[in-house]
Amino acid sequence: MTRRLSLFALFMLLLPVMLGGCSEPLREAPITLKGQIFGTYYQVILAEPMRRDEVADLEAGIREALEAVDASMSTYREDSELSAFNHSPIGEWQSLSPELMQVLEISRRVSRASDGAFDITVGGLVNLWSFGPEARPETVPPENLLEERLAQIGPDKVELDTETGRARRLGDVYVDLSAVAKGYGVDRVGAYLEAQGVEHFLVDIGGELVLRGYRNGEAMPWRVGVEVPDEHRQVAQYVLALTDLALATSGDYRNYFEEDGKRYSHTIDPRTGRPVEHALASVTVLDDTAAEADAWATALSVLGPRAALDTARREGLAVLTLERDGEGWRSRVSPAFAERVGEGALDKLGINRPGQAPASDNEET
Ligand code: ADP
Ligand code: MG
Repeated sequence: MTRRLSLFALFMLLLPVMLGGCSEPLREAPITLKGQIFGTYYQVILAEPMRRDEVADLEAGIREALEAVDASMSTYREDSELSAFNHSPIGEWQSLSPELMQVLEISRRVSRASDGAFDITVGGLVNLWSFGPEARPETVPPENLLEERLAQIGPDKVELDTETGRARRLGDVYVDLSAVAKGYGVDRVGAYLEAQGVEHFLVDIGGELVLRGYRNGEAMPWRVGVEVPDEHRQVAQYVLALTDLALATSGDYRNYFEEDGKRYSHTIDPRTGRPVEHALASVTVLDDTAAEADAWATALSVLGPRAALDTARREGLAVLTLERDGEGWRSRVSPAFAERVGEGALDKLGINRPGQAPASDNEET
C-alpha cells in the first residue's frame, strides 16, 4: 500500500515537469535563421516544426560551425590558421587542422582537373587587384608589380602531406581560399544539422547552397533561382526544383570595379594574372558538396564559355552557364546538368539540351 502511494506521489511530482516540457511552444516551419559571415550573409531554412529551445540550440551550433571555418580559413583575420600558414617560413612543414587540410586537398584536386584555372596561390594578385584584405586602390596595378607577383604563384608552391596532415609553402605565396571556403562552410553547417537529426533544410552562404529533404510537408523539392547576370536587378532567370545536392554560382556581375569604362572582375586568371575578360557572365554548378561546387564554379569562370563546358563534359560536372550576347545572354548546360535536372524540366525552362544550338533567352520573339 505504501509502495503504491509513493509511486502515485512520484507520478504527481513528475507530472508538472512533463507538462512543462510539452508546453514549450512549437515553432511552425519554415524557420529561417539569418546572419553575417565571411563578409556576406548566411541563411538557414529549417522545414520542420521545432520547439523554441531546439531552434535556439541549432542556431548556436550553426554559429559555432561557421565561426570555426572563419577562424581557420579567413584571410581577413590575422589570427586565422590560414594567416599563420601564409606567414610560415618557406619550406617548413606546418601541422594543420583536418578541416583546413581537407579544403587544401579539394583545392588541389580542382586545380589539377581544371589545368590550373583554379589556383589558391593567386592571393597576391587578388590583393594587387584590390579584391583582398590588403587595402589597395581600386585601380589597374602597375605592370612591374603584376609581373612580379605573377612569377611567384602556382599550385605547386603549396605541398601537402595528407598522411601526416601537414603542408608547406615552397615559395612566398599567399594562399586565398575565398573561392572555396564559403562552400565548405555550407557543408559544415549541413553536416551539423544532419548530425542533429534534421532532415529537411536549406543552407545558403552568399549564394552557395546545400539542399536536403523537402521544403514543406507536401514533399515539395526546394526551389532555387538562378539570377539574371545583371548587377542592377536581382531577378531569377530560372527557377530550378532540386533537392539532396549542393549548388554554387560564380558571377562576374557583382564583385568588380570599373576604370575607364572597363570592368575588372574579382576572378583572376592565373595564367595572365589579370581579371577574366570573356563573355561568361555566370556559372552554376551542382555537386555532392558545396565546397566542390564552389571551387568548380570559380574554376569554370576562369576558363571561359567554351572551355568551361568542355571541362564540365570531360569531368562529368553538372553545369549551367549564362553567356553575355549583345544586350542579352545565352544559356548552355552540360550533359550531367541535363541528367540531374531532367530534360523535361529543361524544356519547361526553355533551356536547350546539351548539343543543341544554345538558347537565346531574352531575345524578344
Ligand atoms: P564567385 O562566387 O563570384 O566565384 P567566390 O567567392 O567563389 O566568387 O570566389 C572569388 C574569390 O576567389 C576572389 O575574390 C578571390 O579571392 C579568389 N580567386 C580569384 N581568382 C581565383 C582563382 N583563379 N582560383 C582560386 N581563387 C580565386
Ligand atoms: Mg567559388
